[in-house]
Amino acid sequence: MKSVLFSRFFILLPWILIVIIMLDVDTRRPAPPLTPRPYLSPYAGGRGAARLPLRRGGPGRGREQRNESRPPPPPPPEPPLPTIYAITPTYSRPVQKAELTRLANTFRQVAQLHWILVEDAAARSELVSRFLARAGLPSTHLHVPTPRRYKRPGLPRATEQRNAGLAWLRQRHGHQRAQPGVLFFADDDNTYSLELFQEMRTTRKVSVWPVGLVGGRRYERPLVENGKVVGWYTGWRADRPFAIDMAGFAVSLQVILSNPKAVFKRRGSQPGMQESDFLKQITTVEELEPKASNCTKVLVWHTRTEKVNLANEPKYHLDAVTIEV
Ligand code: UDP
Ligand code: MN
Repeated sequence: MKSVLFSRFFILLPWILIVIIMLDVDTRRPAPPLTPRPYLSPYAGGRGAARLPLRRGGPGRGREQRNESRPPPPPPPEPPLPTIYAITPTYSRPVQKAELTRLANTFRQVAQLHWILVEDAAARSELVSRFLARAGLPSTHLHVPTPRRYKRPGLPRATEQRNAGLAWLRQRHGHQRAQPGVLFFADDDNTYSLELFQEMRTTRKVSVWPVGLVGGRRYERPLVENGKVVGWYTGWRADRPFAIDMAGFAVSLQVILSNPKAVFKRRGSQPGMQESDFLKQITTVEELEPKASNCTKVLVWHTRTEKVNLANEPKYHLDAVTIEV
């Protein structure tokens, strides 16, 4: 009788254990969220997916805390995400709204981005004002006209507009200790990957990366050795102190504020030297921070939009409606 009882007990034991384990596992599973989680882009550079691996504590930590009677201490506050300030010069032309639409669609996916749109015009246009009001982005709308004498082929473009953006930044942050920020010159016709913003957000002083489709080559890039920029891969004027396109660098807000006189120059600036003239005022080649896997990835393209064919556009308005294009 005793042995029968024992054998039954040992037959049942594994089953009892399995049931206990399953109950235990089930209660440990976190409850599903009541509302669907917002989509967090891994490129948003923000609070979501990209930061998860940085959480402190190993896998064993959760179990430790569950047994404590006091609630776990709140996690330390995350440092504020540096704001990316994108300065975009723009001018009226048939493709302007299309360019701005592409740009806004990109920027909208980037966390904590402030768009400084500077019109090359004597006044803010209705088209751009309306566009920005509906863009769903934190933005500042500035304008400054390029003097007529500088509107010639071969002369640098958008000098006054970029300087207006710089002046706004300095004025806005001049009287207080600067919040962390990164400045980037984003022409309205280029193509920007979302990864680019993740890279530039960690800029400490001045960061650099390759640019595709520029300088008569498939790409230009800073040459990097042991984490430092030692030269430039370029097919055009390799003697430039910083042989880099406007789309190939970012500057921390702190550097912009501590070099209040650094601006884009008209006088004495040769074509293609805008970037070098500006960067010379705020940094040195040795100081540059290479991004995009030591400058081996193209994350931005110097695309240029083809001039549109308006050969069949009527001289006088013929349509029954007036449409903004
Ligand atoms: N731009 C401007 N006024 C002009 C020509 C250009 O504000 O008269 C702006 C343009 O919208 C762009 C930037 O300046 O954001 C650079 O111009 P563009 O793309 O024509 O130059 P590139 O592609 O040759 O560097
Ligand atoms: Mn361009």
